[in-house]
Amino acid sequence: MSLVIIGSLAFDTIETPLGKREKIVGGSCTYCSLAASFFTQPKIVGVVGKDFPKETIEFFKKRQIDLQGLEVKPGKTFHWEGRYGLDPNERTTLKTEMNVFKNFRPKLPPEYRSADFVFLANIDPDLQEDILSQVQKPKLVAMDTINLWIETKTDSVLRVLEKVNIFFANEEEIKMLTREINLIKAGKKVLERGPSIVAIKKGEHGALVMGRNFVFGVLAHPCEDVVDPTGAGDSFAGGFLGYLDKAQSFSQKEIRKAAVFGSVLASFAIEDFGINRFKTLSSEEIESRYGQFKKLVSF
Ligand code: AMP
Repeated sequence: MSLVIIGSLAFDTIETPLGKREKIVGGSCTYCSLAASFFTQPKIVGVVGKDFPKETIEFFKKRQIDLQGLEVKPGKTFHWEGRYGLDPNERTTLKTEMNVFKNFRPKLPPEYRSADFVFLANIDPDLQEDILSQVQKPKLVAMDTINLWIETKTDSVLRVLEKVNIFFANEEEIKMLTREINLIKAGKKVLERGPSIVAIKKGEHGALVMGRNFVFGVLAHPCEDVVDPTGAGDSFAGGFLGYLDKAQSFSQKEIRKAAVFGSVLASFAIEDFGINRFKTLSSEEIESRYGQFKKLVSF
């Protein structure tokens, strides 16, 4: 079992209809590794400034996340600011301050180079490619991205896409990348470029997982109060890949289960601001909600 995750560790300033929080801990790598830590012991690659809270580092350690690839640099941690409307799927980015990420050129620790699984979470696609080139022979590589990179670094995103097995994207992103308005056509276009699985996240409507010869739909947990949708996508990927790393199988059956665990982890992430919900979450709660998901779709 070895899952290396590269992505952002951040301070997020978030406004949702249920409140506002200034500079709370977030980031794609943060959410993803915490979600994955309920199944495996992820190794993370990223950078933070000296202002990153010691308690969060301690929390990562408690969750048995390997921090050898985490650099602490003089300067400020990456900062992202976003606002959600009444529809939690609609998000506006108000500010992105790269800070210590600007000159980040990570070198993978030797133990990371033999990883089986690599997840290139949302981060500059050139950095994703650089990291991937440092891993010797991964069995499975997955990536995520966002509109910003699809708009500003399209060629780099497409280059990385050709090197991965699983592509995670939300509806809007995959439509933008493929210039297709139909999700199935968009998914097929991605599959033609190299990946064998594409997981399309549809916010409160769940996700659609497509392979070359199957399509699988997973619902989102029916939730009345989405407190903070931030990190739902990363938690989905973390649950999905963490489960696959534990299962060590990429059969269609396991891919389907992985997608449900992804949805389960995302459903917990949105119940509180930032990473708060992960602080109290237990494996028992995850199993119990997995059971509820089964009931939800059985007929
Ligand atoms: P998600 O809601 O799962 O799509 O991801 C939310 C996380 O992405 C937030 O915690 C942000 O810190 C992080 N994020 C936002 N913009 C960027 C960016 N340009 N590069 C890396 N991470 C980002």
